[in-house]
Amino acid sequence: MEDPLGEVVRLVANEMVAEVCSIYLLRAGEVLELFATQGLNPSAVHRTRLRVGEGLVGDIAAHNRPLSLADAQAHPQYAYRPETGEEIYHSLAGVPIVRAGRVLGVLVVQNRTRRHYDEEEIETLQTIAMVLAELIAAGHFVSPNEVQQVDGLGLLPLRVDGVQLTPGVAIGHAVLHEPRISIQKVVAEDAGQELKRFEEAAHGVREDVDRMLEAHDMQSGEQREILETFRMFVDDRGWLERIREAIGSGLTAEAGVQRSFDDVRARLGQSTDPYIRERLSDLQDLTNRVLLRLAGRAVADPASLPDDMIIIARDMGPAELLDYDRTRLRGLVLEEGSAMSHVAIVARALDIPVVGRAPDVLSRVEPGDSIVVDGDNAQVLVRPADDILQTIHAAIEARDERRRKYMALRDLPSATRDQARISLNMNAGLLIDMQHLDETGADGVGLYRTEIPFMVRSEFPDVDAQTWLYSRVLDVADGRPVTFRTLDVGGDKVLPYVGAFGDDNPAMGWRAIRIGLDRPAMLRRQLRALIQGASGRPLSVMFPMIAEVSELLSARRLLDLELERAKRRGQPVPERLRVGVMFEVPALAWQLDSLLPHVDFISVGTNDLLQFLYAADRGNTRLAGRYDSLSPPLLRLLHFVVEKVRPAGVELSVCGEMAGRPVEALALLAIGVRALSMSPGAIGPVKAMIRSLDLNEATGFMNAALTQPDRPMRETLRLFAADHSIEI
Ligand code: PEP
Ligand code: MG
Repeated sequence: MEDPLGEVVRLVANEMVAEVCSIYLLRAGEVLELFATQGLNPSAVHRTRLRVGEGLVGDIAAHNRPLSLADAQAHPQYAYRPETGEEIYHSLAGVPIVRAGRVLGVLVVQNRTRRHYDEEEIETLQTIAMVLAELIAAGHFVSPNEVQQVDGLGLLPLRVDGVQLTPGVAIGHAVLHEPRISIQKVVAEDAGQELKRFEEAAHGVREDVDRMLEAHDMQSGEQREILETFRMFVDDRGWLERIREAIGSGLTAEAGVQRSFDDVRARLGQSTDPYIRERLSDLQDLTNRVLLRLAGRAVADPASLPDDMIIIARDMGPAELLDYDRTRLRGLVLEEGSAMSHVAIVARALDIPVVGRAPDVLSRVEPGDSIVVDGDNAQVLVRPADDILQTIHAAIEARDERRRKYMALRDLPSATRDQARISLNMNAGLLIDMQHLDETGADGVGLYRTEIPFMVRSEFPDVDAQTWLYSRVLDVADGRPVTFRTLDVGGDKVLPYVGAFGDDNPAMGWRAIRIGLDRPAMLRRQLRALIQGASGRPLSVMFPMIAEVSELLSARRLLDLELERAKRRGQPVPERLRVGVMFEVPALAWQLDSLLPHVDFISVGTNDLLQFLYAADRGNTRLAGRYDSLSPPLLRLLHFVVEKVRPAGVELSVCGEMAGRPVEALALLAIGVRALSMSPGAIGPVKAMIRSLDLNEATGFMNAALTQPDRPMRETLRLFAADHSIEI
């Protein structure tokens, strides 16, 4: 029988004036097998195999990028395969055969001479590879069960570990997110007609995004901002022009759109910069949307989808997730993604668990498989056995039950058995978090991390945008106090538009107030927005990472300047202004006497304090749990601070993670802390602990325990709680 792939390699070799043209396809087990060749030994077909990452062909597949070498044999990755007879060919150019983001194989040409393949030639190869990918996927050349795409890893239960992008646990059935657009035609007959088709499709996409923006639950907050950024992309001149040019050069609208994306990905695909990765995934989202429009297809056919969808994707843009019916969406699993990625932020707003960086999950899951997305433990269970499913169902039930119990505590006072009133607040960072104020019955927001919305934008938000956000936060708080922390960026929280952060030791580098004071215009703009957003209402401003009193004084001066500016312009100033600092840098403990006269409150950030006290990176998993937050040195330090701060009439609270764990919260109350701020989910458990506690007893116990030589405080406190029926 005629060998169609053999025909393809012959034609390509001819077209490219190459002596060799070969096609390698991916088989199960990450093996690239030579499926067809013109120029190499025919007997090598189906015999020559390379693992992904092995040799130049493996390298092209592993990195999903083209390679062009005038002297391939001099390349350190070159792997010589004697059965092919390729030793006489010096130059090599290869491109990955990619479909829906997955590498299916590699297309290679070789020449005897040391030929420099130019950009145009590589582009031609890419275009051919694009067509090949569609035809291969459609089963035109090889039977589908020959290639890896379908001959998966069997249907055994599987656990895939990833990272938590949003918490929670969900059970459902897999939907493989793949637009499955097959580009049938690459070369156009009528460029004008293709251009018209493209413009219509782009217009349709614009309308779709506008419709999403109009949806009632996208009226405010970061989700809206993300969609608006996305909308701007649709109007981006550069993007539109690139596609028009590609179509002008003779490609069909589909091929032009795909080509434009492939070009960008080839240039930026290796970048690890989170901002660039985010843009790339927005662009992928947009590309898929336009392709779907061109094909005249809806994004996903709702009728064919299960009622409890777990979406499995390589990566995803925010708009793609919103295409699915929200009432049927249960969870999301991504091969890529980060907690700050746009899709994760939208998923958080929809309250669905997401596990990211789950390796190869797309190729390990079949549509309709039963799936557990366990965001809490950062894992995905594929086709779990029935008994496991039952256990998970029971865990979800128990969790709902606990939620109901904590809900019942919502309107009861946060007071100990001996009537000590404890201020219970929540931490927030997105407008969407504010809804938890009502749900949890928290007294207010003890820490509003303002940097998060800054991180999802492509440029520094102007004063109006910030003002709008802060004003909305205060509207939702409806009179309950909110402590706004000024920007705490730097370190791992990168703002793409604030210059490079090349610090070797970022947590101790140019971050937070240090940036604010070095870039006073930026800090002033934020302070201006806070004053305007408050619009006469009470305002609390907190400065992060203060290490010296002079830093607070400088920051206060900027705040005073902004207050004067507002007054000069006849704008309302806050009816009550409270200014405070985060206590995160140990050095501040020995400056309290000079600090206290200048602040209304201090909030202890135990996350950073602990890392600086023990010189142990808070994000280093190898050190996680090594130094206990209940260790006597930290408790003694905090006790010392409480004793200093209390008589000065300055409020003291704790807003690090420690405050949200019942045993730790117990210890904090016992050393004299009376205000805590924590993630919303922790309020119920901590309130239950507070309401079962006799604070007097606990204080006496703690005072005695802290004078003892170092002892394991965690165990001691657990026993104390058990003896006194304290709910921890
Ligand atoms: C802290 O350091 O404890 C804190 C609350 O701030 P962040 O976690 O935002 O650094
Ligand atoms: Mg901190």
